[in-house]
Amino acid sequence: MSEQAAAPKKKLNPVRTPIRENDPVERRGVFVETLLPYTREETILEAQRCIQCGKPWCMEACPIGQDPRTYIKLIAAGDFNGARDLILRDNPLASCLGVVCYHYCEQSCPVAKKGDPIAIRHLKRAALEYADPETPYAPAVPTNGMRVAIIGGGPAGLMNAWVLGQRGYEVTVFETTDRLGGLMSGTIPAYRLTDEVFEADVARFRGLPVRFVFNTSFPKDVDLDRLLKEHDAVFLSIGTWKAKRLGIPGENLDGVYPALKFLKESKRGERRSIRPRVVVIGGGDVAMDSARTCLRLGAEEVTVLYRRSREEMPAADEEIKEAMDEGVKFQFLVAPKRFLGIRRLEAIELQQMILGQPDESGRRKPVPADAAPIMLRCDTAVVAVSQEADLQILPADLGVKLGRDGALEADPKTGATNRAGVFAGGGASVVHAMAAGKRAALAMDAYLVERKTSPA
Ligand SMILES: Cc1cc2nc3c(=O)[nH]c(=O)nc-3n(C[C@H](O)[C@H](O)[C@H](O)COP(=O)(O)OP(=O)(O)OC[C@H]3O[C@@H](n4cnc5c(N)ncnc54)[C@H](O)[C@@H]3O)c2cc1C
Ligand code: SF4
Repeated sequence: MSEQAAAPKKKLNPVRTPIRENDPVERRGVFVETLLPYTREETILEAQRCIQCGKPWCMEACPIGQDPRTYIKLIAAGDFNGARDLILRDNPLASCLGVVCYHYCEQSCPVAKKGDPIAIRHLKRAALEYADPETPYAPAVPTNGMRVAIIGGGPAGLMNAWVLGQRGYEVTVFETTDRLGGLMSGTIPAYRLTDEVFEADVARFRGLPVRFVFNTSFPKDVDLDRLLKEHDAVFLSIGTWKAKRLGIPGENLDGVYPALKFLKESKRGERRSIRPRVVVIGGGDVAMDSARTCLRLGAEEVTVLYRRSREEMPAADEEIKEAMDEGVKFQFLVAPKRFLGIRRLEAIELQQMILGQPDESGRRKPVPADAAPIMLRCDTAVVAVSQEADLQILPADLGVKLGRDGALEADPKTGATNRAGVFAGGGASVVHAMAAGKRAALAMDAYLVERKTSPA
């Protein structure tokens, strides 16, 4: 990694320029965005807090290798166009990441040792917002005569298509639904990610030799043999759409919903209301989005039920805080035992838990307490316990397995599977999925170039 020339030491300002929010009481009933953008002045002020570290911690922490140190320097000097160009050089989904990225860069920013890390994600958003409107698209590249197929138009597939399209490959993305963006655009609610923001990113594919084919499912409509016959390489990025069930009595009652289906229908406007008393089961970001969506659909009372304590919750702190500010209630150390009702959900029975020894994740494992069960009246339950890739649709001889995050895992460095020319990958966050798509694209390029140049 390149070291920067020593610059005069800058006085560190530990206090972040505040990020304004829509009022929690007003926003809880509507799908308006939660966080408001910085003004131009606030953007420059926040960028000027960056101490321009000699070692770019933020860049090293970014799974797709964005260079915040340099684009923040450009922003600090008021050069929004320069910052935008640098951001888009490495990142076709920059508009989305400017609002939903889990900002691993900020976690490694040393300014946090004295106060708040630089608000890198919010600065990225502002750079795109205040740059001139014309978006620099990738220059038209001559096609190289080789064809690549991608299964799944989520962040992993899109990143793979973008990298390979820029290198002249003719790319076809086969997508089972009628739209792009996968879980990101399909389930993250509009108070965090609007369709308009996603469309700004989709526009970055214009001019590239990338074709999208919708309503086409693997392997039903296109199987691997056909794909390999018609293309030089294949990338499988099917995401993590298989929801885990709780496996307890009453899960099929009317009123009990798996979170992904629930969020997808809400995002598409197919679900516009909800019964008044809701429980959400789970402690991750999907649970937070489900709970906050229920408030916006008109629920009177929403309670998140989690089997560990607040400290072990996997959801991002900001999501938990925003949910609490909006009035979502939390009940910790309880596990669902059964759903009760005749045809329709009427209540949930909960087992009280205590925390035992740490498990393989390092978090203390919840174990049943010697205490009477709790009965909670509810008419809707959203089950947000976790999701994973559907391995059953892939041929077993590919050697692809599930990673710890539930995403497809092949060779960790290249995404290569056991079958020549077939690659796979995905991730539990947008930027990790994109990183998997990029890793595989570089490996596919190397594989295809070698195949083309090596004697038959
Ligand atoms: C509610 C929710 C909130 C989230 N919030 C955040 C957040 O704030 N920040 C963040 O970084 N991440 C967040 N994530 C995670 C993020 O959305 C995912 O990690 C990311 O979308 C994974 O990208 P992917 O390309 O691997 O898979 P996906 O996004 O799932 O994309 C896979 C694509 O493949 C398609 N597909 C599946 N099967 C087939 C098939 N058989 N044939 C053809 N096409 C197929 C799917 O329709 C989909 O379009 C959230 C996820 C959820 C569910
Ligand atoms: S790690 Fe933080 S302070 Fe250092 S260059 Fe990156 S944003 Fe600036």
